[in-house]
Amino acid sequence: MMQANTLTIEDTTETQNGTVLSVQDLRVWFELRRWGFGHAGSVRAVDGVSFDLGYGEAVAVVGESGCGKSTLMKAILGLHLPTEGDIVFEDTAISTLGSRRMQWYRSHVGYVQQDPFGALPPFFTVGRILEEPLIINGIKSSTERQERIRRALTEVKLTPVEEVTVKFPHMLSGGQQQRVVIARAMILQPKMIVADEPVSMLDASIRVEILKLMRALQLSHNLAVIYITHDLSTVRYFAERIFVMYAGQVVEKALVDDLLANPSHPYTHALLAATSDPDAANAETFREVPPGEPPSLVHPPTGCRFHPRCSHAISGLCDTQEPPEFDIETAHLSKCWLHR
Ligand code: SF4
Repeated sequence: MMQANTLTIEDTTETQNGTVLSVQDLRVWFELRRWGFGHAGSVRAVDGVSFDLGYGEAVAVVGESGCGKSTLMKAILGLHLPTEGDIVFEDTAISTLGSRRMQWYRSHVGYVQQDPFGALPPFFTVGRILEEPLIINGIKSSTERQERIRRALTEVKLTPVEEVTVKFPHMLSGGQQQRVVIARAMILQPKMIVADEPVSMLDASIRVEILKLMRALQLSHNLAVIYITHDLSTVRYFAERIFVMYAGQVVEKALVDDLLANPSHPYTHALLAATSDPDAANAETFREVPPGEPPSLVHPPTGCRFHPRCSHAISGLCDTQEPPEFDIETAHLSKCWLHR
């Protein structure tokens, strides 16, 4: 039986400005232990990531599997503790939160999972799935809960509401399931949404529809969004800024249009080369795909982590010294010695 408590949910419809989330030199390392021998190294899944996110701003974090973007997302959701650095939500470092304040934090941060079917409890109706977070977070009035459920389902375009609320997840299509996941993420009127590859398991025909729905909700609710994806072709539908991750680090930050038109880091060129839907105007530019595999996060390369795969590597510099972030132009940074 779920227990109601006294946490109250604020109405966040009032527009706020400034920084909602600040990630400060974040490191999330996982210790490896060899049986009988103790410490055997660390997996440096996130290794020195910093950025600020404004209210109402959407950023995309892109990179191939194993680059650290999922670990970064879980740290932001409070599921992994920082090894070093901090994640500050409004004025609060989330690593300092106890379980009750962590519930407060999670009421302000919605989560849209990659696999909608796996994310929805199979034996709950849609109505029950959406009501649960409201009960847990102290919305005692049944009338208010039903009104919020009605509003959330209408916003994600799942109507008639009376028919949808009595259905179980298996009675819905993949796109409808993802709309329920989005409605659940929105139901507590969060200030921020973390979306983990939200369209990668959907049919191609409905991906753009779901991204456009999320974009509309982001704009109408002044939501900050962190959109995690490996697919650069979807980013243009959604985000204002983009961060490219490689081997646990952010190697390029830029406005989306700027990065797609003028990629600067050799790894970003490689990602664009592998994109299924490159901008036709730029298609000729991004032919060069580097050889090799992403490096070990236990023993990452010295210097620039991309240097073993980079055809532009400068011997004696790229292989020995880690590049800082260089300013290329306004709001465009690249962690590459070519821009020193
Ligand atoms: Fe290539 Fe050197 Fe730039 Fe790294 S710093 S991406 S190795 S040119």
